[in-house]
Amino acid sequence: MTDKCCICGGNLLDDESRARYVEQGVSEESLKDWLGNNARPVANGRCCNPCNDEHVIPARINRLHAGLPMQALEDELGHYLRVRRELN
Ligand SMILES: [Zn+2]
Repeated sequence: MTDKCCICGGNLLDDESRARYVEQGVSEESLKDWLGNNARPVANGRCCNPCNDEHVIPARINRLHAGLPMQALEDELGHYLRVRRELN
């Protein structure tokens, strides 16, 4: 298991995201287990939040427009949506 983003090579949890999560009440203990985001379909592996927002999510939206079944998109977005729900 690598703790580096498979797209940019940076830390899976970038400093800005870590600070934001802590500010929102997520414990440092929980953040130790941060596994990043599923990088598909851009890459096979885990990616940091900035790469997820800038590359992975737009790529998925493009795939949706290209006719990818909604279920496949939900499978790929599962972890991302769970984390967002926990934060809200
Ligand atoms: Zn990255």
